[in-house]
Amino acid sequence: MADFYDVLGVERNASSDEIKRAYRKLARELHPDVNPDPVAQNRFKEVTEAYEVLSDPNKRSNFDRGGQGFNFGAGGAGGGFGFGDIMDAFFGGGGSRGPRPRVRRGQDALIRIEIDLMEATFGSDREITVETALVCTKCTGSGSSGSTQPSKCPICQGRGEVQQVTRSVLGQVMSSRPCANCQGFGSVITDPCRECAGDGRVRSRRTLNVQIPAGVETGNRIQMSGQGEVGPGGGPAGDLKLALKAEL
Ligand SMILES: [Zn+2]
Ligand SMILES: [Zn+2]
Repeated sequence: MADFYDVLGVERNASSDEIKRAYRKLARELHPDVNPDPVAQNRFKEVTEAYEVLSDPNKRSNFDRGGQGFNFGAGGAGGGFGFGDIMDAFFGGGGSRGPRPRVRRGQDALIRIEIDLMEATFGSDREITVETALVCTKCTGSGSSGSTQPSKCPICQGRGEVQQVTRSVLGQVMSSRPCANCQGFGSVITDPCRECAGDGRVRSRRTLNVQIPAGVETGNRIQMSGQGEVGPGGGPAGDLKLALKAEL
């Protein structure tokens, strides 16, 4: 294991201020948004890992005692960002027949966050405001007004699709298409909620606290599970992804 004091170029009894200063100085020459050289980028990862440990009193004393167990994985603080789950929920079970569900998972949202070099180096706590979709509080996601329930679609009899007969030179061809009367849901909201017009969710602004870890760079993403848009019918929220961009 690397000696983190050597990596930062400080004495073993360095104060936390000295450690911070050393890391800041190295970040100014090695941070990937300043220095595109791959060697510098690797050095920056080591330097960040060393800073992560030595700036935390518990981790530092553990390291001083020769403790093991610093498993930062690839890239130290820069690792571990989710680079996007495949949304198999949308693609799974292809070709299934029958009415489509009213309750579905919400979309993922991607927003850009600009940070300066010091935030990229030391990390920071940010408050961000996002425009998103939240569950409609009036109908709690059902889309119906009061206690009314959707009723079975009289056109497709609840199947969500209708048969279509076309004549061709080969004779009659039967095919099916989504029912236009119920948009394929198989049911019709007879008395839609006034607040959300039957969607089960409303557009709204929301403020979130974001922790940007130390040692990030342009292109890193922070994934916040379940902080994206609520789905139709009050379905589970998608993820919120923050794309970081360092402004130098
Ligand atoms: Zn229908
Ligand atoms: Zn509503």
